Amino acid sequence: MRQQRPPRSTFFRLLRRVVTTVVLLLSILTLFAFATVGMMTGYFAAILKDEPVRSQEELRQQMNNWTQTSYAYFNDKSSIGAMRTDADRKWVKKEEVSPWLIDALIATEDHRFYEHHGVSPQGILRAVYQNMTRQAVTSGGSTITQQLVKNVILENREKVLERKVKELGLALRLERLFAKDEILTFYLNSLFFGKGAHNRNLLGVQAASKGIFGVDARELNLAQAAYLAGMIQRPTAFNPFREETFNSGRKRMLTVLSRMEETGKITPEARAEAARFDLKNSLTKQDAQSAYSRDPFLMSAVEERAAQVLMKVNGLDAAALSREGVYRSTLEQYRKRVLTGGYKIYTTLDSRVHRAVNKAATDKKLYGSPISYTVTIGGKKKRVNNAEEEVGVTLMDVKTGGILALVGGRDFNQGQTNHALQSRRQPGSTIKPLLDYGPALDQGEVTPGTVLVDEPLEAEGNGHEKKTYKNYNDRYRGPVTAREALKWSLNIPAIKLLRETGIQQGFSYLKQMDFPIHPMDGEASAIGGFTRGFTVEEMTAGYAMLANEGIYHKPHLIQRIEDAKGHLIYQHHPQPQAVFSPRTSYLTTNILQDVIKSGTGRWVGARAPGHHLAGKTGTTQNGHDVWFMGYTPRIALGVWVGYDLNHPLANDRRAKRVWSQVFRRAIDARPELSPKGIDFSRPEGLEEVEICNVTGNIATRECHAAKSAVKEILPEEAVPDEVCLHHWEERVVQVNGKTYLANPDTPEDLTEKRTGIRIPEEEQERYQYYQGAQLPTERDPRSSTGQPAPPQVQSTLTEGELRLSWTGPSDPTLAGYRVYRNGTHVASIRLGEAPVYQGPPDHYTVRAVDVAGLESDDAVPPILPNSPEQKGSPWF
Ligand SMILES: [Zn+2]
Repeated sequence: MRQQRPPRSTFFRLLRRVVTTVVLLLSILTLFAFATVGMMTGYFAAILKDEPVRSQEELRQQMNNWTQTSYAYFNDKSSIGAMRTDADRKWVKKEEVSPWLIDALIATEDHRFYEHHGVSPQGILRAVYQNMTRQAVTSGGSTITQQLVKNVILENREKVLERKVKELGLALRLERLFAKDEILTFYLNSLFFGKGAHNRNLLGVQAASKGIFGVDARELNLAQAAYLAGMIQRPTAFNPFREETFNSGRKRMLTVLSRMEETGKITPEARAEAARFDLKNSLTKQDAQSAYSRDPFLMSAVEERAAQVLMKVNGLDAAALSREGVYRSTLEQYRKRVLTGGYKIYTTLDSRVHRAVNKAATDKKLYGSPISYTVTIGGKKKRVNNAEEEVGVTLMDVKTGGILALVGGRDFNQGQTNHALQSRRQPGSTIKPLLDYGPALDQGEVTPGTVLVDEPLEAEGNGHEKKTYKNYNDRYRGPVTAREALKWSLNIPAIKLLRETGIQQGFSYLKQMDFPIHPMDGEASAIGGFTRGFTVEEMTAGYAMLANEGIYHKPHLIQRIEDAKGHLIYQHHPQPQAVFSPRTSYLTTNILQDVIKSGTGRWVGARAPGHHLAGKTGTTQNGHDVWFMGYTPRIALGVWVGYDLNHPLANDRRAKRVWSQVFRRAIDARPELSPKGIDFSRPEGLEEVEICNVTGNIATRECHAAKSAVKEILPEEAVPDEVCLHHWEERVVQVNGKTYLANPDTPEDLTEKRTGIRIPEEEQERYQYYQGAQLPTERDPRSSTGQPAPPQVQSTLTEGELRLSWTGPSDPTLAGYRVYRNGTHVASIRLGEAPVYQGPPDHYTVRAVDVAGLESDDAVPPILPNSPEQKGSPWF
């Protein structure tokens, strides 16, 4: 097809317009650039003016400060262990490092290292441009000298651009004061390679060479050197000891090798040979007996928490750092500081209890065998092989929030995620006391005796697609008290309560306890549906608040930190915060004690005799997460069990079993932690009353008869004035299998007494799902048509007993029969009952009786035929 060309004149006009536009743009950019440079110089000078000029000695000391070991301790000051081993602390000079590694680092990180004066102009321009265009200022393009400054000197206390300017200033200063090789030596010893075999911290190239390949830094071959050089920007993502990260690390190594070839450091043949090297086989397997191999989850947790504490001590704001995208890197920097600063880090952990709890929770017998399955993550199917059930446990002192014991998982070498402190999981029903019942009680919306209706409920909120909340099996209980609803963990009453309180109001309680609530979270959260979920630590701290009379303590692991000289640099100060009133927390606890005594947690209750426990089960609907949260007046213990990659658990009793075992072992290890017999203290202003569990009003004799009277504890002002008007006793009759209210004329002896609820017309809907006794609403429609005919009676004599039975008459107005012995009334047989009477041999008659009480004439049994039994019978 021929393309049509614009006419010549149009084409030239277009060209002219393009040229002028380009020229104009260029002029603007040039002007802008000059102005920027001018502004920049002034700005830089202003920032650097306040920066103290550091002496060479000072800087050298800062960069050499890698020699001191920090130690972690239990709360009785006994040692958990050293945070680095001696072997990991060896400082190496540039000459003691394989030239391959130096070449690889220079080729990938800063190929003009030996030419520049500490900074690269492109790097500065990029930073300025990123700042002006309000992008995140990235670290890419930093020289080795700048990286060194960031690794060991800067604090990240300033705003992004100021920090960048300081980094540049310090880099220039380092280059003036130190030789290139000296800078390189500092750099080599400051690099962090994450965790090596047996979870040792790999700080510096010597520790990395030893901890990853089991060789000294000078013995690294080209492939090993390239692998290490590739790791430094993202050490965890390229950790060689895990299959997936090893594969990414190996890819990265190939990139490093190509880069070395491009910069002329190696030949193509050397590159090819290195690419063929069996790296995996050269990883070290050497054992190291250290605190890291004994309790890797704990050591990692102590490192991270201590780093966070030091950041706070230094005035760093975690939220601000996250916004700038430098939180993780700053934390890493502080982690290194924790390891090398010679600190004494005192934790809240109880040595005996922590060990006992870990032993109990990692007992293989508590878990199922590994399974393989396929999951869909982000639309992609992924095969999971031999997955183990994982566990997270936190044991907390409710009076302080101090963590007494924690279990991060079953095996650190299988997965390094800490399931007590880090994994966020859906809380299921364990959230109900904290989000639904507690807040509703606290706001005075309900009492434990308030009657709620369990019935299908339409979801509220963004809704072209109308959703209805249903119960498992589509079965409902109708009216239930709040206590029963929580005890049996019913979903619909929980949602109704959160609506009553107000969803945001409910969330505000959780926020007071540092639960991370997402803007997308809504009413489905009432039954445990959250965008992100919570950690075991967060959940346990919430339950500890219930145990501690409504006072929340932030959970913490680090009690105090001393520096190398023994100076106190951090001490945890409790900041108690009242979340629920003492009354609310007592009432919630009281219901959760019922859960343990006779509700969904009775299995656990039966296994902790002598202890006053309160607790709550939780299983997410898909069965991926199974929880048990329980507490005494002294300690709170939270347990979660599930797979790392979502899959339903085979058995939802897992968390209860782990909980029971852990609780028993913890108490055995230290009985004074929570002595048997201590109970939750009841605050003033509560009254015990007997109420009706159908109406919530004061129970009557009829409520008792209907088994609807229950003991309840209510706030004095919420004790109902009214008695139950729904439970009644009525006389009823059965006609053709249907129950009616008896006519007033129908004799008492021929009606039946029945207690049950009588539901007013306007409340029929509320009681639609009611499963208890109900009284009939229809009255017996029959009326008398005159005296009925007598029935036909037969009689037999068996083993000295006379048995009468009869039929008829076929009269639709009958209410039953009366039996007379020698003219005296001895029995009334109601319609619907078997028409039979048995008694000692004598003179009997039977009469039919109608609805108005009219009796028939006597029906007399026939003379009994002669039979062997009858011979010599005394009644003739
Ligand atoms: Zn009642």
